[in-house]
Amino acid sequence: MTTFADGPTTTTPADFIALDEQWSTHNYHPLPVVIAEAEGAWVTDVDGERYLDFLSGYSALNFGHRHPDLVAAAVEQLDRVTLTSRAFHHDQLGRFCHELAELTGTEMVLPMNSGAEAVESALKVARKWAYRVKGVPDGTAEIVVAGSNFHGRTTTIVSFSTDEDARADFGPFTPGFVTVEYGDARAIADAITDRTAAVLLEPIQGEAGVVVPPDGYLAEVRRLCDERGTLLIADEIQSGLARTGTVFALDHERVRADLYTLGKALGGGILPVSAVAGRADVLGVLRPGEHGSTFGGNPLACAVGRAVVRLLATGEFQQRSTALGAHLHARLGELVGHGLTEVRGRGLWAGVDIAPGGLSGRQASEALMSRGVLCKETHGSTLRIAPPLVITEAELDRGLDAIAEVVGRHTGVA
Ligand SMILES: *Cc1c(COP(=O)(O)O)cnc(C)c1O
Repeated sequence: MTTFADGPTTTTPADFIALDEQWSTHNYHPLPVVIAEAEGAWVTDVDGERYLDFLSGYSALNFGHRHPDLVAAAVEQLDRVTLTSRAFHHDQLGRFCHELAELTGTEMVLPMNSGAEAVESALKVARKWAYRVKGVPDGTAEIVVAGSNFHGRTTTIVSFSTDEDARADFGPFTPGFVTVEYGDARAIADAITDRTAAVLLEPIQGEAGVVVPPDGYLAEVRRLCDERGTLLIADEIQSGLARTGTVFALDHERVRADLYTLGKALGGGILPVSAVAGRADVLGVLRPGEHGSTFGGNPLACAVGRAVVRLLATGEFQQRSTALGAHLHARLGELVGHGLTEVRGRGLWAGVDIAPGGLSGRQASEALMSRGVLCKETHGSTLRIAPPLVITEAELDRGLDAIAEVVGRHTGVA
């Protein structure tokens, strides 16, 4: 076994996995595949085996691996300037924020790095807005959130997670959050008080298993927020940027949020780029020194983010998601009753529940891997399917054939 630095003896997948297990923390349970290269919808492992990527880095790779326009934008910026800090202006920041605001129909952008940082930033902005604009007594603001949410991994964010694995041993927790059941507008109406700064929701809950709320729920939440003078924050980090066939998943309901959190695909699969985009009178509450990030809005991130916005502005990826998503859902729908109990989702994004008595999500992911398809369970027997939006219909069918085989085989319905 290799026990120290990468050398000529580290060649097999098992060697690399052993290195990972010895030297990196065990906060993930990856499939036993060791990726060395990738392009478009495909990855290649250290043995030269190719796999279709049906996960897309949880939607960070909406444009596939190494999209040529995104790589070109990154390389061009690498040759100019990569980091300035926000102590100085640079020639990419304003253009990135302007172009992202135009694409998203928003008025102002706060650039950050990871998704969790975008969510943290939105929470801070909402609290400050509540104190300075809404007039909530200092230190008493509340934020209404949904059960089974996933908004990231910081101490404040796990404070309002309902996933015990995400919380256990990480307290004490940040107060000021009120949790209601996802999909129940009445529960939100009951939870909003004079101290409520914001309602924070995923328009479709990704990590929970691609859970789509009932029709009319998001519009009703918007109406309640307007009526009660509360902000609506949409966490579109996973659902946004063409994944469901539109720029935002909220667009399907013709609903606008006051603040959107964006991340994942905003970095084009190249580097972490996140942002809060929204109303200028809300984001405008921040003054110098009150919030920031050394890397947030750096020139390289902005250049890649601008290239992402250019790809989205063509509408091509939204159209692909819509068309391929219809095909995906039609084919997955045929498996309900034949290995699957339920299929949820929108566009090229699905959560599927494997029938009781069938494989666990983990076992199904391993079986798919051995058939050259990479996807991942969310929890229990739910698989999340989110191929890159550059995938072809033939490639999609290849992956779907493997899924049909894997979930059908173990219920005797191949
Ligand atoms: C992934 C995700 C986050 C967290 O993003 P990180 O970049 O991992 O911090 C937040 N919200 C949603 C909805 C996500 O899917």
